[in-house]
Amino acid sequence: MKHLLGLEGMSATALTRLLDVAETYKGVGVGDQPKRDDLKGKVVVNLFYEPSTRTRMSFGLAARRLGADVLDFSPSGSSTAKGESFIDTAKNIEAMGIDIVVVRHSSPGAPHMLAKYLHPHVRVINAGDGAHEHPTQALLDIFTIRQRLQRIDGLTVGLIGDIMHSRVARSNIHGLTTLGAKVIVCGPTTLVPSEVERWGVEVAHRLDDVLPRCDVLNLLRVQFERQRSGLFPSIREYRLLFGVDSDRMRKTKPNVLILAPGPINRGVEISPEVADGPRSAILDQVTNGLAVRMAVLSELSTST
Ligand code: ASP
Repeated sequence: MKHLLGLEGMSATALTRLLDVAETYKGVGVGDQPKRDDLKGKVVVNLFYEPSTRTRMSFGLAARRLGADVLDFSPSGSSTAKGESFIDTAKNIEAMGIDIVVVRHSSPGAPHMLAKYLHPHVRVINAGDGAHEHPTQALLDIFTIRQRLQRIDGLTVGLIGDIMHSRVARSNIHGLTTLGAKVIVCGPTTLVPSEVERWGVEVAHRLDDVLPRCDVLNLLRVQFERQRSGLFPSIREYRLLFGVDSDRMRKTKPNVLILAPGPINRGVEISPEVADGPRSAILDQVTNGLAVRMAVLSELSTST
């Protein structure tokens, strides 16, 4: 694997390998556990054109725990403010001698463009391109499910909420279906794209019917920043129809696993007692993100 641009088209063998490699990075550099030098002498650039808390910090820490030097780019305070284009910025950073670019951009396909235009030795990792894909998020979601439930094959996973604008949903759909899970997407009709059925998922619009069938619920944030007009009447109505709170938890399987990619809108798609409750693996996802990203960085850096 030369770049990680998305999970679409990735084989079950390649996905499983990444998850297995990630197991070996759990805890690296934490407390007394030593760091590693897989990326010693390598330069990793975080090229983030959209806001990020978890993904950016997680990639930065993962790269440092493997011995890399890390450069951090944000458009504000850079020459982007003077009109420099995305490709010119990337080419100039490349000229400093870099090995891996972790890129987040609002345009779908931006990472693919870098993979095409940067020097062939540079590896590109998609950290979220518009509403298209967010492969490491889906990998860490799947890693967390496997850790908690010991399998993926045969599970039913509900992706609930704003499917239309969610790159996390797309990457999860590709990864989970390839590994043999059944995926149900559930959200308001205006937030579920019509093409989604082509990806081999079941579409539902009534959360209460879906809840008892799922082993995992991944609660997706309403992406207010990507919506130009109101796609549902009010936040109150959204919460009533699609918010998961303790009342709704009574309708789920007793051991249902609750995931959310973060940031969460507390009191909208998830209530505080569910987010902080015993079924929630939200902070495990963040911890696992480090192992998954170390695995991806190290696999790409050794690929030819
Ligand atoms: N952090 C995730 C993303 O960048 C999910 C979200 O923003 O809701 O796609």
